[in-house]
Amino acid sequence: MRRKFVAGNWKMNLNVAKARALAEGLQAKIAPGVPVDLAVFPPFTMLSAVGEALKGSAIKLGAQNCYFEAEGAFTGEVAPGMLVDVGCELVLIGHSERRHILGETNAMLKKKIVAALAAGLKVIYCVGEKLDEREAGRTEAVLHQQIHEVLGPDISLSSVVIAYEPVWAIGTGKTATPDQAQEAHAYIRREIGTLYNGKAAETLRIQYGGSVKASNARELMSQPDVDGALVGGASLKVEEFVGIIEGAAAAR
Ligand code: PEP
Repeated sequence: MRRKFVAGNWKMNLNVAKARALAEGLQAKIAPGVPVDLAVFPPFTMLSAVGEALKGSAIKLGAQNCYFEAEGAFTGEVAPGMLVDVGCELVLIGHSERRHILGETNAMLKKKIVAALAAGLKVIYCVGEKLDEREAGRTEAVLHQQIHEVLGPDISLSSVVIAYEPVWAIGTGKTATPDQAQEAHAYIRREIGTLYNGKAAETLRIQYGGSVKASNARELMSQPDVDGALVGGASLKVEEFVGIIEGAAAAR
């Protein structure tokens, strides 16, 4: 039985004071002992303050990106070890906004995952098709490429979670139906089975991301291959995010 994992991607929002208040608000409202793994991903400048605010809580700290070199002349980039240094345990790699706005390629993402794991971080690796790709019937082909060009025997999956995030559902208010999510998740799990083995496929957690809200969380996470949620907009509101966590805890 895979434990559900709900993560909040705060994207490029808030400031230090607001981020600290959000972290404290979440701590105050999340039921102690809730059977769900939890993490938040604030912007870089807020990591230390949020880490302080979350001390002793069950909510883990993560960053939204990292570079694939350990140090050196890479102006503006942040190394995985620097994230560990400020208390991060996780990092998001391959979010669609980084793929499609910042131009990150599968080759870069592979290097980032290798570097992040080597530094001791856990990775949430994001995959997902764009609207035109879905409409052209290419969803599985896109996922196939994002999986096979990035993962493989050189990357141990024990510290990796995959987030299936259809790009057309991110920040649009359009959520994949539970059936659409299940279909994509089952495909991803099958491909992981092919690339690794049955045990790796069975234990891998696959989150769904794309306009998850308190009102649709439980149904989405009740699908057999949906093991949690990566939440953008709704993770900035305490009540809504707590509702999603409760949906995860109640999912069957
Ligand atoms: C995301 O940024 O990963 C995301 C899923 O955003 P939203 O929940 O706002 O669609």
